Amino acid sequence: MDFDLVLAHGKILDGCGNPWFWGDLAIQQGRIAEVAPPGTLRGRKLIDVEGHFVAPGFIDVHTHSDLSLLVNRRAESAVHQGVTTHVVGNCGMSPAPIDEAHLAEMRQYWGRISGQPEVDWNWRTFDEYLRTLQSGGLAINVASLTGHAALRMTVMGLDDRGPTPSELDRMKKLLCEAMEAGAFGLSTGLVYPPGCFASTEEIIALCRVVARYHGLYASHIRGERETILDAVAEAIRIGREAGVPVQISHNAPKFGAPCDATANLRLVEEARARGQDVTVDNDVHTDLAPALTGGLPQRIQDRPAAEIVALLQDPAVRRKIREEIVSDRQAAFGPAGLLKHGQWHRITLLHAPHSPETVGKTIEALARERGQEPFDVYFDLIVANGHEAEAIFDYIDEANIRLLLQHPAVMICSDGEATAPYGFLNDPPPYSPCSYGEFPGVLERYVRDQPVLTLEEAIRKMTSFPAQRFGLWDRGTLRPRAWADVVVFDLDRIHDRATNLYPHAYPFENYPHNYPEGIDYIWVNGVLVVDGRSAQHTGALPGKVLRHRAVTST
Ligand SMILES: [Zn+2]
Repeated sequence: MDFDLVLAHGKILDGCGNPWFWGDLAIQQGRIAEVAPPGTLRGRKLIDVEGHFVAPGFIDVHTHSDLSLLVNRRAESAVHQGVTTHVVGNCGMSPAPIDEAHLAEMRQYWGRISGQPEVDWNWRTFDEYLRTLQSGGLAINVASLTGHAALRMTVMGLDDRGPTPSELDRMKKLLCEAMEAGAFGLSTGLVYPPGCFASTEEIIALCRVVARYHGLYASHIRGERETILDAVAEAIRIGREAGVPVQISHNAPKFGAPCDATANLRLVEEARARGQDVTVDNDVHTDLAPALTGGLPQRIQDRPAAEIVALLQDPAVRRKIREEIVSDRQAAFGPAGLLKHGQWHRITLLHAPHSPETVGKTIEALARERGQEPFDVYFDLIVANGHEAEAIFDYIDEANIRLLLQHPAVMICSDGEATAPYGFLNDPPPYSPCSYGEFPGVLERYVRDQPVLTLEEAIRKMTSFPAQRFGLWDRGTLRPRAWADVVVFDLDRIHDRATNLYPHAYPFENYPHNYPEGIDYIWVNGVLVVDGRSAQHTGALPGKVLRHRAVTST
């Protein structure tokens, strides 16, 4: 029999963690048709992959591509790194459901992208959003969680209070609708408004709805620094009391955490030993590049620049804000921990249109240069640049990334989004090494160059493990009848061109970001999307919006 396509003479990685083997792989009508000894299969088209690795397409379980996929349906930064499926709706943020009365708040929540013409906001229900995603075609498959923030915003706006019983009922009803439409579960972002206003009991009540549909609870927990262990314990408690599996998102301790990652992983292990299904994902980058104003207390950081500047120009108010940052009573944004703990050498200026001479320097270096207190340098940069100053905050210790990578219950995610090096999404170029370099970076740095895990284990954490977690039983492995999401790569040539390691050299090594090298081919549902030999996207949009089967217990 001649198959549609045969990939011959590959080193096959099945995705389950088994050692690679020599083989041919046949694709027929979008699915894997056969796996056989090398040189034995015939196809109408045959590609000799010449001993390179053939693996299931990578599944990225934690992304924020909800709207960027509407702007860039080719999902370029994802497919070029071998990613064939994104999970969206993370950290409590999904663009649906939403109602008319709260649409303005929702649009503001998503920021600049919400004004793009491709983002028409014609959907209200979760189902309508999924249809919008599918309607224009997509290069990759997408699975979506329902964001707790969307439920809350629709029912009670951004109010800093608990819901009334009838409001909670409305949130449950919206969640039922989303689960029936194919949401894979509920996500929360408990450090961001409005998630931070929710009690543990509110989340448990909602997760009981998720449990009825056999969905998942994914959480950006209520603090990833000083309070990380309490926050992990809260997530585990929510899963236990509601009867849902728990996925703890990007669970690296951030600077200021009391212990290294072994402590949060121990809580996960203990829960698993008690019979609770708890797993973790993590990204392998130490940095994030928010606006400098992101380090300010939450109550003022989103105000108009002129207001913030006026506050910081008053010496007494400036002193008070400084005290507030250092005392940090509210569980806050992770990178703000660097300010609290005086880690000024870990904050490197990325953009400062009104102080261009500071770009590439750390706040510590600027303070030395100017003979000023680092806090004053920080505030002065905001006074000069408002919200426009951005810095790379290296708020994660690389040693924790290694610890997490080695743990069997931790899968790999990017925490980035599908983007592209042109057009609106690149204007200005975002600092998002994970969006372009996550998966090749793991293979290059943590498998090949300074190995902390085997190739087979790394691939398992990118494929069959995330597929199992989301119940995508026909993806994530190279077995007959699975959908043909397939990546071919050459481990010797793998090179991430999006990451610049801490401490940062200036000019920045890989910023603006480039596509990685060494990824040769990517098929999504059996259709070639990237021909890596020429680094060309074929323009094909074979991706599917995946819907969780709304099985309910009897
Ligand atoms: Zn998050």
